[in-house]
Amino acid sequence: MNLEPIFTAVRQAAILTREVQRHHIIESQKTGQEPVTIADYGSQAIICEALSRAFPHDAVMAEESGTQFMMLVEPEQRKQITQLISFVLGRSVDEEDVVNWLDFNKNIQAERTWVIDPIDGTKGFLALRHYVIAVGILEGKNVTGGIMGAPAYPGYDKGALLHAINGEAFIQAMHDGTPSRIKSSDHTDPSQVRVLESVEKSHASHDRMARVRELAGLLDSPFERIDSQEKYGRIAAGDAELYLRLPRINSTRPHSTWDHAPGAALVMAAGGMVTDIDGSPLDFSTGVALTNNQGMIVSNGRIHEQVLKAVQQVLKEETPSS
Ligand code: AMP
Ligand code: MG
Repeated sequence: MNLEPIFTAVRQAAILTREVQRHHIIESQKTGQEPVTIADYGSQAIICEALSRAFPHDAVMAEESGTQFMMLVEPEQRKQITQLISFVLGRSVDEEDVVNWLDFNKNIQAERTWVIDPIDGTKGFLALRHYVIAVGILEGKNVTGGIMGAPAYPGYDKGALLHAINGEAFIQAMHDGTPSRIKSSDHTDPSQVRVLESVEKSHASHDRMARVRELAGLLDSPFERIDSQEKYGRIAAGDAELYLRLPRINSTRPHSTWDHAPGAALVMAAGGMVTDIDGSPLDFSTGVALTNNQGMIVSNGRIHEQVLKAVQQVLKEETPSS
């Protein structure tokens, strides 16, 4: 399968999101425009445009829709989005094109489904921290590939483009690189185990994860909070060893498939491990929400068992004794 058209689309989407950050967040923050909306619709439209040409018979699962675009977005903003897409694609497109791309092959049945998070880590995007443009490939119940544009990936001028296909994972500079193979690291020593978690307290329980780190002997390990699936990308590239995602106790919000499928593809292809907090594989057969999964343990594989044990211990501690 040739992923080049999707790489191009993700690069174009990254140009669009950067433009939105520059003009709508940094320069005209006070004008009341909604940068997320513009960037989300723009990014999704660009990726779906590429899919419609390169993989016309495949299904799409993505957050935004053409109906929302027409109903919820003010005409002036719709014009801005359409202009930005035209600018990035280098040709004139109109509102009808945008609507058609946003809805491209949604709700159809196909052997292959592309799972798109046009901007993952919205809060990071707005705060000029980390975010990614994430695309996963589902075949039946399995995640078989993924592409991730990470504009703030450390060590690259304009970010990195990661991808996984046929059981192998790669990284390249966003705009001009040649892909190099990546593998998750072999580190097991606590001083070398770099731990990642969400910035946002409302997305995952910082307290529960701190207890897991304590029980796993990783409390003094290098630790960073970053937004988005870049966390999965870092584990895949050997730039981190553990990403924990334990929901807040009593959280009822399911994890979205587009928040995990692209990243999981990268980590698994790089030789790492991705499981639920009970150690079972994530179940990608349930549509837009991972309704069979509680949380995520993502690691280089080598430290997985030790962390899983610590998670079980925390769950046990939390169970009220009778
Ligand atoms: P992160 O930056 O890793 O926290 O991931 C950002 C993603 O978390 C967003 O795309 C949201 O879809 C998702 N999210 C927001 N709230 C929750 C929640 N309560 N539980 C799980 N995921 C959430
Ligand atoms: Mg997301």
